[in-house]
Amino acid sequence: MSDNVAHDAQTLAFYDREAASYAVRPKPERNPRLEGFMAALKPGASVLELGCGGGQDSETMIRAGFDVTPTDGSPGLAREAEKRLGRPVKLMRFAELDALAAYDAVWANACLLHVPAEHLGDVLTRIFVALKPGGRFYASYKMGDGGDRDGLGRYYNFPSRARLEATYRQAGAWIDVTMEEAPGGGYDGVPRTFLHVTALKP
Ligand code: SAM
Repeated sequence: MSDNVAHDAQTLAFYDREAASYAVRPKPERNPRLEGFMAALKPGASVLELGCGGGQDSETMIRAGFDVTPTDGSPGLAREAEKRLGRPVKLMRFAELDALAAYDAVWANACLLHVPAEHLGDVLTRIFVALKPGGRFYASYKMGDGGDRDGLGRYYNFPSRARLEATYRQAGAWIDVTMEEAPGGGYDGVPRTFLHVTALKP
């Protein structure tokens, strides 16, 4: 599939423009979901991070000894993450992922929420294919009732729980899909309910 329509150009342009300040925005010292994700992996497991932003989560996983591949679709943020990590960050849009059974795990925190709703299934299928058998996948979304822009002009797919469950059912053969609702915030300062989703490839 062509990537021309599978990303929102305005959203990526926003991250590029804001890269320097976005990359150093304050994040909580500890992320219990990331800690739980790492605890479920074998020591040294290979982890693909999608939409790594400033690279904070990759940094945590690298420090914990995992074999991390950080990626982002914004050249500006990829450069910022490279500065933080001191290693190359792959410039890659989600829809360009074409790896085959290459990773033990995929971490996609607050980034697939920018995939146009009609393309989310394709991206989830690519992630399924990129994982090794037994692979683990985490992603988080802002819950809602359909695609829209926030006050900063960024596109969000804002899925309902039922819509997201249906998309996971149709995209790959995921097992043990868990979805947890929790309050969260964002760069726009607007409180939202997040859906935290974990899934396994059999
Ligand atoms: N995961 C990071 C974190 O938790 O701090 C950053 C989250 S930020 C809300 C969303 C990230 O997704 C940005 O780094 C942005 O550049 C990236 N992104 C948005 N659309 C993308 C696309 N189509 N392909 C790859 N990355 C994309």
